[in-house]
Amino acid sequence: MRERDLPHALEMVNGRIARAERLWLFLDYDGTLAELAPTPAVVEPDPDLADLLRRLSGHPKIRVSVVSGRRLAHVRELLPVEGILLAGSYGIEIQTPQGERIDRVDWEMVRPVLDELKPRWEALIEGREGFFLEDKGWTLAIHGRRADPGEADRVLAEARPMAQEAARKGDFRVLGGYKFLEIGPREADKGDSLEFLLAEFPMPGALLLFVGDEDKDEEAFEVIIEHGGIAVRVAPQECETLAHCRLEAPPVVRRWLETALESVGSDAG
Ligand SMILES: [Mg+2]
Repeated sequence: MRERDLPHALEMVNGRIARAERLWLFLDYDGTLAELAPTPAVVEPDPDLADLLRRLSGHPKIRVSVVSGRRLAHVRELLPVEGILLAGSYGIEIQTPQGERIDRVDWEMVRPVLDELKPRWEALIEGREGFFLEDKGWTLAIHGRRADPGEADRVLAEARPMAQEAARKGDFRVLGGYKFLEIGPREADKGDSLEFLLAEFPMPGALLLFVGDEDKDEEAFEVIIEHGGIAVRVAPQECETLAHCRLEAPPVVRRWLETALESVGSDAG
């Protein structure tokens, strides 16, 4: 994406929505629909957001899915909206619009490996300022968001080989980010999950649209683009992305979704 083309890019995306017979939205939650919470454990449902998603999913031409790194139980609490598909833990655990639950990975394969690693990571961060461990059930993460950057690097450099050792005991992958390290099953990947959803719940002729704000969403962008869909990146500034266009922040995303709600199919032939 060339930033100077941004207004044109958004116009192109809006044009495709207006011409779409049907629209399938894939939306990330944190940093996309809602501002980032101070810690991922914070669960504060937003009635306005639930209302927006309810209206989107009530539109006869729109299907709504939320694909989040949070646990499904969290996502469900945050979005008490019937009729939308919720995918938690990067799409490993799914709740269909009919309320049916699908686990794509065997819990018994995952959990013993994480349970063995967990006390080692706990011991590593114990007594250190600015770190916390997040156990999401299917994945385990160390966050050093409020740690000194140098110390965060040192701690994560020690945590990584422990995770790699654990990862060899099953079909896992280790994901690193800024002040962040996570281990989870290989299927804990939004791109992989998107492939699964497209195959499992086909919506022929629908325009596919994915909106997300970080690296894990970029994996889904790759897949959505391969399927002829549209990727929208949420970021305050220009950034490295595969997306067709960029929106600055969650409030902008919400206003834009309102517009999409009104315009979808308005130009369809
Ligand atoms: Mg996000």
